Amino acid sequence: MRGASKSTPLRRCGVTAAAIAALLLLPVGASQAGILDWLKGKPEHPKAAAKPAAAPKPVASTKSEPTTRSLAPAAKPAEKPQAAEKQVAEKERVARADKPKCDPAKFRLIVDVGHTRKSDGALSARNVPEYDFNLRLATRLVEKLKADGFTWTRLMITEGRARPSLVRRVATANSSGAELFLSIHHDSVPEKFMENWEFEGKKSKYSDRFGGWGLFVSKDNANFDASFAFAKMIGKRMRAQGFRFAEQYSQPIMGKYRHDLLDKNAGIYRYDHLVVLMTTHMPAVLLEAGSIINRDEELQVAGQERQDATIGAVSDALKEYCGMPPAATPPQEPLVSSSNH
Ligand SMILES: [Zn+2]
Repeated sequence: MRGASKSTPLRRCGVTAAAIAALLLLPVGASQAGILDWLKGKPEHPKAAAKPAAAPKPVASTKSEPTTRSLAPAAKPAEKPQAAEKQVAEKERVARADKPKCDPAKFRLIVDVGHTRKSDGALSARNVPEYDFNLRLATRLVEKLKADGFTWTRLMITEGRARPSLVRRVATANSSGAELFLSIHHDSVPEKFMENWEFEGKKSKYSDRFGGWGLFVSKDNANFDASFAFAKMIGKRMRAQGFRFAEQYSQPIMGKYRHDLLDKNAGIYRYDHLVVLMTTHMPAVLLEAGSIINRDEELQVAGQERQDATIGAVSDALKEYCGMPPAATPPQEPLVSSSNH
């Protein structure tokens, strides 16, 4: 497959070495029977699996509801037009405020744990596998989302090692009827940037030169627009937290690992041929939550405070994506660039 062969730019990324002999899609704390029931179960809206879900409109959308549009004064020109319009506008406002665009309990989000236990991704500056960071953050994220009412949310854990099994990871996501896919990773750097140090008596590698979080989307995804929209909702909140963004991917020094920066404000890169972004039928986003090869940042992402902030950014973004009234929605920024190579 085209994507499979082009999807492995860095050892860092899960999508790179991610491989599975067996795949589990786990509701947190679910029993084996529960997993099987879920895997066999048909989605309530089966078309969602074949037809990518569009990003729900933001709450502030000015688009009229068909039902309220039918109340327009044109049908009864004798009435006071201004009063009628005002009434319609008020009904639309109330409808937008009171009616979320999705039911959180039924919204089907898969949170993918990047890499597998056997093929565990990058190694941190202190020799902890990336998989451990991914699993911890993704597990806590799913717990938070369930507590927030997104009770359908599934934690996707894959096992094994062979790259072709990536296809199975995506196939399971596609057959699940999921409406949104978020892959959780932690970043490293290409080998040429590595430096040596000793940690706890062991020769280790690090790079403090780069760091930061980043978001990746594929223009080859079945629903790029919705993927990009969700990524923006996350990225703006990550930036608002004041965390460092991984700016290096747009720089020439990254060579073949260079990516187009689609949105400098939200920290979103274009990565067309990443398997889990390209072949998923639903909108898909990959979040690099931070660098584990950067010694300071490794300590941060290992800590609860940084994890809580990232989880908060994602959960608030999901609420916005679903059209729920957010506490504070960051303003939408224009696209910076779409493609330059
Ligand atoms: Zn990774």
